[in-house]
Amino acid sequence: MSYPDTYYASTAISTAPRSALSEDVSVDVCVVGGGIAGLSCALELLEQGKSVAIVEREAVAWGASGRNGGLVSAGWAQGNDALEKKLGLSHAQKLFALSVQGVEQISNNIQRFALRDCQLQMGRLNVARYPQRQKFIARQRVMQDKYQYQQDYLDTDQVRQICHTQRYFDGLYDASSFHFHPLNYCLGLANVIEQKGGLIYEQSAVVNISRDKNKQLVSIADSPAKVSCENVVFCGGGYSGKEIQALQRAYLPIATYMLLTEPLGDLAAQLISRPYSISDDRRAADYYRIVEGDRLLWGSRITTDNQDNVEKLCSLLREDLCSVYPQLQEVKIDKAWSGLMAYAGHKMPIVQQQQPGVWICSSFGGHGLNTGTICGIKVAQGICAINQDYQLLSPFGCDWNGGVLGPMVANLTYKYLRLKDKIQEAAF
Ligand SMILES: Cc1cc2nc3c(=O)[nH]c(=O)nc-3n(C[C@H](O)[C@H](O)[C@H](O)COP(=O)(O)OP(=O)(O)OC[C@H]3O[C@@H](n4cnc5c(N)ncnc54)[C@H](O)[C@@H]3O)c2cc1C
Repeated sequence: MSYPDTYYASTAISTAPRSALSEDVSVDVCVVGGGIAGLSCALELLEQGKSVAIVEREAVAWGASGRNGGLVSAGWAQGNDALEKKLGLSHAQKLFALSVQGVEQISNNIQRFALRDCQLQMGRLNVARYPQRQKFIARQRVMQDKYQYQQDYLDTDQVRQICHTQRYFDGLYDASSFHFHPLNYCLGLANVIEQKGGLIYEQSAVVNISRDKNKQLVSIADSPAKVSCENVVFCGGGYSGKEIQALQRAYLPIATYMLLTEPLGDLAAQLISRPYSISDDRRAADYYRIVEGDRLLWGSRITTDNQDNVEKLCSLLREDLCSVYPQLQEVKIDKAWSGLMAYAGHKMPIVQQQQPGVWICSSFGGHGLNTGTICGIKVAQGICAINQDYQLLSPFGCDWNGGVLGPMVANLTYKYLRLKDKIQEAAF
């Protein structure tokens, strides 16, 4: 299986395809899904002395982990305020600290294993699309006072010195966030996993997980071969199906889109004058950054009606892009693609031991690089009885996703919020 035609695939480090599972294997832990959650979990298990096999339906990081915006920042898909309201400040603080660990873990891994071509670049600017001075200053204070997390408030003039558009107003600059090449990171991590003795099978779709005495048996489509293990960790993200029924009922696959412009030459510096990633404060944010020196990599929109037609994607995203930088109206779009994220109704990951020996580590939504990383690690540490930190996520279970009505409700909610954003922005 080749990777979808994305910027990341076209600049990926070379790796040989891996073989499918063709004979029975016995390991301590089988990890289903080779995205950032599965890879992070597998690496931690290996470092704790467990034997591990990753079974991946397509190829390492073929899913969301290899085609996302590449923005790595603290926090979860659900905001701190909502978490504090539901769980209390102390629990929300612990969750936030975990999310920070996820950010740090990625940059540590890049350094520790000298992962190639990850293009790590520090700095993220979050901007308002209409004046929000009080709100942004209050947010900065709350983050500092309650979560000991430093961000700098930038007024409209300062923001516009960085992003040359009249569309933006106030901003918060976060020096601890970074952006990077997520596919090369995952491919590098997979190489490290194999060097440490981990097994990775590609083109191997898990169709069933059953129990045989005190072992789990993981069955693969179109193959008599099975993985026998003590624990199985399911990290199938938005691309999983019916493998674990409780999970399928609990999340919705939500699509989001990205594009890459042609090289912009001098025009690139006329858009953004710092190497930061930029995201706005829309409910479903636009997020972007410059790659390769002068190309814009832009992401926006969320929907349950996944659109794969490149022409349609280009026209949808160009509309968003030009609402910020109208001078890009005639610019050629070299690539556009979509990806699926798993979203639970509570917008938090589902991380739990679903039954003895069967673990779920999934549903990281649009904030999955740091959270998928740390949750994968925490599940591994739970299996190895090092700590029970994964239970910090236990308030977020497999709640019903609304069945056939779920996608419709999600789409209507998104359209309503987008309209609300546009009305608020229209006055400025
Ligand atoms: C376009 C886009 C932009 C995004 N931007 C950002 C961003 O800038 N910052 C951020 O933090 N997050 C972002 N996200 C979200 C983030 O990418 C995801 O939350 C995260 O990558 C999820 O990781 P994962 O390992 O859970 O799932 P995935 O990366 O989707 O991996 C799951 C893997 O499991 C495999 N699989 C599924 N079912 C089976 C099965 N039955 N058998 C075997 N294998 C199976 C799939 O093939 C897939 O490779 C974005 C997502 C998208 C789609």
